[in-house]
Amino acid sequence: MTIRLTTAAAIVVLLSQGCEKEAARTTPTPRVETVLTQEERDNLKPDEIVESFRAGNRRFMAGDLTVRDHSAQVRAAASGQFPKAVVLSCLDSRVPVEDVFDRGIGDIFVARVAGNFENIDILGSMEFGTKVVGAKVILVLGHEDCGAVMGAIDGVELGNITPMLANIQPAVQTVSNQYEGDKSSTNHEFVHLVTEENVRQTIRDIRQRSEIVRDMEAAGDLMIVGGVYDMKTGEVEFLD
Ligand SMILES: [Zn+2]
Repeated sequence: MTIRLTTAAAIVVLLSQGCEKEAARTTPTPRVETVLTQEERDNLKPDEIVESFRAGNRRFMAGDLTVRDHSAQVRAAASGQFPKAVVLSCLDSRVPVEDVFDRGIGDIFVARVAGNFENIDILGSMEFGTKVVGAKVILVLGHEDCGAVMGAIDGVELGNITPMLANIQPAVQTVSNQYEGDKSSTNHEFVHLVTEENVRQTIRDIRQRSEIVRDMEAAGDLMIVGGVYDMKTGEVEFLD
């Protein structure tokens, strides 16, 4: 359960701070001090969790993030965690995953690797987060203007970056086979198509390589979705 500071409430607080300091002092800002409990998480359906991500992203775009007391949440979460989702995101510093979906402590697992692809360690982490701990959604989150995607397109070779980028090559090849225009990282449309394909490819690979995830999805206990974050607006476009 979340308590959100509405725009109207914010205006009231601001007005009261400006006009009546005494009143403001005795009217604390509503803030979330609790964390998701097992009962609350277990009662959620996968599609409700995805919808809560959409709503959270709308609040992020509107600059209306839930106010959280992180110190209180840390104490509340110390005895255990019951996250509702696993997010696989790129490394990019401009995609603060919890903020993007207005989530707090104990809400989501976040796995990050440049180019948001899966590997054996990520798959194991997802199986832990879902089968063992009980998360009900896996979200693969790519983003526009991704340096890893552009590096894969350009065939960048440098140290361990070379084998890392090889994980994105299947998406580059799939789009290249169908695309008529300029197939370089300077072509925004091409980069965008590869970014989307990389998310879809990652989801296919997760299903193919994880029997646990596949079985949970088939049973309706888990939903796998993909999205792409827009750097300029903060919007996550969820893929079909
Ligand atoms: Zn990236």
